Amino acid sequence: MDFTFTEEQQDFRDALRRFVDREIVPVASEWERSGRYPTEIVEHLRAMGLFGITTPEQYGGLALDMVSFTLVYEEISRGWMGIAGILGSHNLSCWMIARHGTDEQKQRLLPKLAAGEFRTGVGLTEPGAGTDLQGIRSTARRDGDEYVVNGTKTWITNARHADVLPVLVKTDPTTSPAHKGMSLLLIDTTSPGFEVSRDLGKLGYKGTESCEISLQDVRVPVQDLLGGAEGRGLQQALSGLEIGRLNIAGRSVGITQAAYDAALRYAKERTAFGRPIADFQAIQLKLADIATQLQAARLMTYWAASQADAGRRVDMEAGMAKYFASETAITASLEAMRIHGGYGYSTEFVIERLYRDAPLMAIGEGTNDIMRTVIAKALLSGSGVIG
Ligand SMILES: Cc1cc2nc3c(=O)[nH]c(=O)nc-3n(C[C@H](O)[C@H](O)[C@H](O)COP(=O)(O)OP(=O)(O)OC[C@H]3O[C@@H](n4cnc5c(N)ncnc54)[C@H](O)[C@@H]3O)c2cc1C
Repeated sequence: MDFTFTEEQQDFRDALRRFVDREIVPVASEWERSGRYPTEIVEHLRAMGLFGITTPEQYGGLALDMVSFTLVYEEISRGWMGIAGILGSHNLSCWMIARHGTDEQKQRLLPKLAAGEFRTGVGLTEPGAGTDLQGIRSTARRDGDEYVVNGTKTWITNARHADVLPVLVKTDPTTSPAHKGMSLLLIDTTSPGFEVSRDLGKLGYKGTESCEISLQDVRVPVQDLLGGAEGRGLQQALSGLEIGRLNIAGRSVGITQAAYDAALRYAKERTAFGRPIADFQAIQLKLADIATQLQAARLMTYWAASQADAGRRVDMEAGMAKYFASETAITASLEAMRIHGGYGYSTEFVIERLYRDAPLMAIGEGTNDIMRTVIAKALLSGSGVIG
């Protein structure tokens, strides 16, 4: 097993690092605290082609390998995890359109999405259903050449900036099992009846908006049914979860790296009892724990990504990476806070932001309890083999 980057991956990571250190790190804490939208950073993401990382080259995308894909989320989250949110559901949506869309949908949407000229996200969750997506209540009733959509979506990242949004609906609410009546509609967000009804307050993950969306008699042309056939929406949405989980694993590694960097730096600078606190074994043990778990999370993430690059289904591998890396980010940010003493609790240090951003990694793209059930299912069915 070889964890060496290719020359191309190495150059790409170096370019990402330079960009993050120059454009994101210096402004992250201040902009996060003020609640300001990172417009200038979005322009850089656009210029670097990062809105097209999952889009095939024929539509103007970068079509990154999965290891490079995770590096985007790792490096950006080392600077500010909220920025990774701007790219996350956008690139997931592009991936679904590229994989499941009709030729017309791909040609119409992907070039603009890959260029960042059009923005997107993913609209699955509802106030009454997140994990249990078959329990959604949004419906789309066929009326001639259009669907009439009604319902409410919640926690939708990028809602205020999306030009087009894949929205999961029931095109046939009577079928059993329910997923056979579920479809994804690529809704033009300027359509009458589509309203971003409110921004949701949240612990962290600032910089990108998370919103509730109200859909009232929204008329959607039938040509905007993803893939052109009803009843495939849930599978289309779930098919993106593998890459979604690699994205979250990458973000978690980035948060942990930032916590480690800050803790190491602080431990060498801060003195107590006449010497740097790094001299105390209790601090050294914490640093060793963070570094060990960081490296394990990183290798597990690259391993899962490289398995995906080898063309395998990686439900178990991506689930393990997401689960382990996100729990690591939560623990590491708290341990790094302890190393900082009182300053770790101060908004003048980066640690409190990392501590607020980390828990989302255990929730998004499937909660960690669901990850454990996914892993167990693979083990029990024999599709996931360990050893
Ligand atoms: C900041 C943020 C951004 C988000 N962005 C988006 C987005 O862009 N688009 C989108 O569609 N969604 C988004 N989400 C929603 C997110 O995907 C859901 O919150 C997540 O899937 C969990 O769903 P839920 O909140 O309804 O929790 P629930 O499904 O109600 O889960 C509650 C608890 O029950 C447990 N549970 C549920 N079912 C089972 C089971 N079968 N077995 C064991 N335990 C179970 C869960 O693990 C959890 O602990 C976002 C959420 C947040 C917080």
